[in-house]
Amino acid sequence: MFELDRVQKSYPGVVALEDLSLRFARGRVCALIGSSGSGKSTVLRLLTGLVRPDRGKVRVDGKPLTSASLQSARLRLGYVIQEGGLFPHLTAQGNLALQPRYLGWTQTRIAGRCAELAELVRLPVSVMQRYPAELSGGQRQRVALMRALMTDPPALLLDEPLGALDPIVRHELQSQLRTIFETLDKTVILVTHDVAEAAWLASRLVLMHDGRIVQDGTLADLQRDPASAYVRRFLDSARRLPEASA
Ligand code: ADP
Ligand code: MG
Repeated sequence: MFELDRVQKSYPGVVALEDLSLRFARGRVCALIGSSGSGKSTVLRLLTGLVRPDRGKVRVDGKPLTSASLQSARLRLGYVIQEGGLFPHLTAQGNLALQPRYLGWTQTRIAGRCAELAELVRLPVSVMQRYPAELSGGQRQRVALMRALMTDPPALLLDEPLGALDPIVRHELQSQLRTIFETLDKTVILVTHDVAEAAWLASRLVLMHDGRIVQDGTLADLQRDPASAYVRRFLDSARRLPEASA
């Protein structure tokens, strides 16, 4: 469904992606993991067309992403940017209504869908009338997630969508997301720092470092047959609870 073909992307003084090729199959969940600055967000930005590659091709459904195809490609995408990206001058409900309104949904249908998703992400309906500045970080993230799910798009690009949530809500939402991914048959690319979260939600893990792919496989592949010492270190960095002393 999505493809990066030998993509190069540089910013002044930094190579964000180095000759990177990746394909994402329809209906599958893939997690992009790796330390900060490894190029994960850049991969998502390229797939949305927000960023153009210096070299190489970006394809969606086999077709190159061009300025002409961008609009229709975006409508088929739910995208949560790393900081949530809510419009500050609109209430939560106003943010959620933007795309549905553009698509001609009625007010009743929009309100119904908002209520459905608020329940899914465990957000009180009263929160919907507040502006982003009046929400906690975790509430903003849940609204951003709701916005991505509003029109039930076939593909979801999620950039650390649960990063600012407290552990209990995060755990709950991880379970709900897994159900959403499985039952709705979505193509999902999820960026996360958290290996446990990645392995819980995705069958395929792509570990990135310095703009390159270090390893691409299942958690078992990475554990049993790490491609480099970095893979081992990355996996070992996930802490377990220490044993309580007697
Ligand atoms: P990640 O999401 O894995 O933390 P990013 O894809 O955001 O990494 O960034 C990869 C590299 O590109 C980093 O070194 C980052 O500083 C740099 N970078 C990303 N976007 C920009 C930008 N707009 N301008 C300059 N440098 C950028
Ligand atoms: Mg990022």
